[in-house]
Amino acid sequence: EKNIPGTSARDLTPSYDWFQTDGLITIVVYTKQKDMNAELVIVDCQDKRLRGEIILADHSYLIELDLDHAVQEGFDVNIAEKVGKVEIVLKKKDNVHWKVLGRPLESHNTFIKRTDRGLFYRKCKLVSKTEVTHDTKLFCLMLPKSTHLQVPTGQHVYLKQVIAGTEVVKPYTPILPSLTLDFKQPSCHDGAHIYLMIKIYSCGLFTQALDRLQIGDYISVSSPEGNFKKSQVQTSEDLFLLAAGTGFTPMVKLLNFALTEVSCLRKVKLIFFNKKEDDILWRNQLEELALKDKRFEVQFVLSEPTKDWGGKQGKISLSLLSECVKRSRKDSKVLICICGPTPFTEQGVECLRDLGYSQEEMHAFTA
Ligand code: FAD
Ligand code: NAD
Repeated sequence: EKNIPGTSARDLTPSYDWFQTDGLITIVVYTKQKDMNAELVIVDCQDKRLRGEIILADHSYLIELDLDHAVQEGFDVNIAEKVGKVEIVLKKKDNVHWKVLGRPLESHNTFIKRTDRGLFYRKCKLVSKTEVTHDTKLFCLMLPKSTHLQVPTGQHVYLKQVIAGTEVVKPYTPILPSLTLDFKQPSCHDGAHIYLMIKIYSCGLFTQALDRLQIGDYISVSSPEGNFKKSQVQTSEDLFLLAAGTGFTPMVKLLNFALTEVSCLRKVKLIFFNKKEDDILWRNQLEELALKDKRFEVQFVLSEPTKDWGGKQGKISLSLLSECVKRSRKDSKVLICICGPTPFTEQGVECLRDLGYSQEEMHAFTA
């Protein structure tokens, strides 16, 4: 084998190629990595501008061009998972021969650290808004037809709105439309909808503006971000989820993933901290799930209960955690996930450390 100066033995930079038929344009990206999946491919096509991003560990490969000719709305994304090949199949608007794929934009064909890539936003339509509790709502947003995007478990997106002439951006964690998904409503699984559970604060800058959105209005949604790895759960036997208030949101997909796809899990316990009983999000669904799946247990802890509350009281503490978080067997492999207000998460992590849990046995959801 020749040794070409300046190249490593095995160059892992992805590359792309394209070809056409009378009606189709196919762009093929060779990622040179195994275990590709649909969550790693984010494609947007607006007018003639195509942007295809492929996430490869902490790097991102980008295809970004102004296409030579117009294409129809919608496209297909095909992934050959094992060989790491990704195809984007566009439909030509007119049956003409394309001389070139398009005019490359500045970041076209670059492979850089994910964190060095600016966030990309697309406008999504608000299709429904339903009450969850007295102050929290479930927003359903519809992605454009020419967007391929799936938010992985444990990741969040950013919403962007112009408020009083200034762009404001806040993170939110997509959830599932419900915890009891066995009725398989097709519309919630088509990948075209994003569900967000958002608490509206009476003096909140962003959430007040969100609450004013009408059905049919548009809002900008970013590509997903976050450092949670599903593999942390895949090897666990005991999973503990410590959530406070809307810190429940990352736990929704996590719960669903754990109970439907992780066969080595023996026990999943959600310890859910809220102020009052009527603040508890999806209480009925959680209780129903606990009845249906014997591996799952939920415990509610209130910091401002009324006198008739018979359950646990207080805030997160060493004594509470030592009582509620216990391995099902002496040496079982455990993962503890924690999310809520920053002081809650920090105190939780500190208590868990004092109880002898290692860094690897914990995951804290933060910005
Ligand atoms: P602000 O104008 O920032 O605050 C106004 C007032 O509201 C404050 O004075 C306070 O009284 C109250 N308030 C605001 N923020 C908080 C807070 N964080 N904790 C306690 N009180 C507060 N929120 C959701 O509802 N759903 C989610 O799925 C979600 N996901 C998130 C994911 C990440 C990674 C992070 C970091 C945060 C997430 N949040 C989520 C919180 C969200 O990003 C905003 O902070 C929240 O919606 C408040 O925004 P605001 O502009 O309305 O309030
Ligand atoms: P909240 O004010 O209603 O409080 C819920 C519970 O959190 C309380 O009952 C208490 O047990 C605990 N808590 C609150 N403040 C505490 C403190 N200072 N010390 C210890 N415990 C405390 O909660 P909320 O308004 O629903 O806020 C939820 C929080 O979760 C927000 O700060 C939001 O930013 C955060 N969040 C973060 C992520 C993430 O980082 N990925 C995702 C979703 C929500």
